[in-house]
Amino acid sequence: MATLETAKRLVVKIGSAILIDSKTGTLRRDWLSSLSQDISALKTNGKDVVIVSSGAIALGRARLSLLGRKLSLAEKQACAAAGQSLLTRAYEHALGEHKIVTAQALLTLNDTEDRRRWLNARSTLQTILTLGAVPIINENDTVATDEIRYGDNDRLAARTAQMLGADTLILLSDIDGLYTADPRTDKKAKHLSEITLLTDEIMAMGGGANSDAAMGSGGMATKLAAAKIAMQAGCRMCIMDGRDESPLRRLQEGERCSWFSAGSNPKKARQQWIGGALQPSGRLTVDAGAASALREGKSLLAAGVKTLSGNFNKGDAVAVCDEIGMEIARGLVSYDAADASKILGLNSRDISSILGYDNGAALIHRDNLVMM
Ligand code: GLU
Repeated sequence: MATLETAKRLVVKIGSAILIDSKTGTLRRDWLSSLSQDISALKTNGKDVVIVSSGAIALGRARLSLLGRKLSLAEKQACAAAGQSLLTRAYEHALGEHKIVTAQALLTLNDTEDRRRWLNARSTLQTILTLGAVPIINENDTVATDEIRYGDNDRLAARTAQMLGADTLILLSDIDGLYTADPRTDKKAKHLSEITLLTDEIMAMGGGANSDAAMGSGGMATKLAAAKIAMQAGCRMCIMDGRDESPLRRLQEGERCSWFSAGSNPKKARQQWIGGALQPSGRLTVDAGAASALREGKSLLAAGVKTLSGNFNKGDAVAVCDEIGMEIARGLVSYDAADASKILGLNSRDISSILGYDNGAALIHRDNLVMM
């Protein structure tokens, strides 16, 4: 059985329906404090925890006296704006009881689709984790239009897991996993505890089972879409009923849920993504010393780069070639072509004095590099 023992980096998605009492539109504080206790225990065991939380719209509804009716997109956005500060404060307070610092990050679809913004969001969130804090992520509903909205935090959570190379994604929902049919209407519906492959048959099970539709916007379909993203990124995913207190402890104790196993490991998935899917927009030629450093798994430093070509931007994929022109690696570059050309051959120490800023010592960080 899958446990959390082996997890190093977890993304926990919290749906509106479990965080907020739908009748009053208020926070379930005792539940949140039990969750915080669980998170504190995970962090004590050395695990990184990232929270993706819904609930801004649901909380804003009560604040703006809009309970119990259908909202227009603009009204939802207004509610999200009114509710987000309450949501953040709730986590800040609950985790603060365990001396855990929280950091709010509001993302849009573009931040996880567009490479440059993706890299920026990634390094900010990485830094937050390195500093020991817990990112509290939600969609930036205020600026999002229908076209650029995720609309559901299930997929946003999966993208976040992919972005951060998480190995475990937990969707806390009001249903204990995936069923062959909707268990509320079909007595013959069977619970699936382990899914290793997303077949058409499994994807079809997402059909009508809309769980927390009253307040959030997710349902089983968006959870399966999230599973697809996560599994491809080498991250296993779990759907569990998180309504009772201490959900993560209960999960560790073997509470019934559905596990979707990871296709490969996060690092491998990321390397496939860099090596396979991206068309290089430039080329760096490196000296023999740099080439052998890369083979040892090191980052590419400007000092070892002899020439560059192509008009690439920061975050673009570039080919790394040896002196005879063979592509030996491919990676996402940390400086655009104009700035990279100013620091070629130079020591990393000199970067900030020459460019006036510093995107890190490496031209391509080893996490963003794959050998060909
Ligand atoms: N971002 C929305 C909120 O915080 C929730 C989206 C969802 O329910 O998945 O209210």
